[in-house]
Amino acid sequence: MNENTSLIRLKGVGVRYQTGTEALKDIDLEVKKGEFVFMVGSSGSGKSTFIKTLLGEVKASSGKIAVAGYPLDKMKRKKLPFYRRKLGVVFQEFRLLNDRNIFENVALSQRVIGVSKERMKKNVHAMLEMVGLADKEKAYPMELSGGEQQRVAIARAMVNRPEILLADEPTGNLDPENSWEIMKLLEQMNRLGTTVIVVTHNDDIVNRMKKRVVTVQKGKIVSDRDRGGYGQ
Ligand code: ADP
Repeated sequence: MNENTSLIRLKGVGVRYQTGTEALKDIDLEVKKGEFVFMVGSSGSGKSTFIKTLLGEVKASSGKIAVAGYPLDKMKRKKLPFYRRKLGVVFQEFRLLNDRNIFENVALSQRVIGVSKERMKKNVHAMLEMVGLADKEKAYPMELSGGEQQRVAIARAMVNRPEILLADEPTGNLDPENSWEIMKLLEQMNRLGTTVIVVTHNDDIVNRMKKRVVTVQKGKIVSDRDRGGYGQ
């Protein structure tokens, strides 16, 4: 594969926790810029460890990892904040700040990278518009439904325009209708050029979306199938 088109590249990656558990074993994986990839597998198979490894929260014990030009396996910790700007993350439990309104929740991502006030306002408005919550800017997370809260989390993850969006069980707390809407939103972000990786247990959604599906079992990739979604 052409080095230039590979945005994420893992070669022989293993992760062993201090307890001795080998959560990932000999992972070879390449994700190209612009792909949409599902990662599936039963509980304990290593999916969260994979996401944490990409986030730089967990260090590989063996192998090589390059993400968006950053060599994670040998990168100094002080570079981590710069690397993280390449990533947006969405979690199952939303993780919004309940004492801040929706605007502030999204704006915080921009404040961290020092965007001017005027630009920040424009960017936050635009993102909330994109996720269909322009009229909820002043609301607080607890005043929103689960689906709406997850849409705020997506806006927060995307407002800095990261190259990669990682979603760890983003529909785990949602009903089928909201789950589907969240997936469609992730697909929209992908269409706008973001590379998207979604960890999920939701077989129904995976089957309907027809994207690349990487299956992990006991820390290993046991299948990697392109379901025809890429490049369409
Ligand atoms: P999944 O996300 O697929 O449920 P995880 O990545 O959470 O899987 O876990 C993979 C394996 O690593 C499991 O055996 C789990 O118990 C173990 N594990 C996860 N996190 C830790 C940790 N911080 N310390 C030790 N073992 C861990």
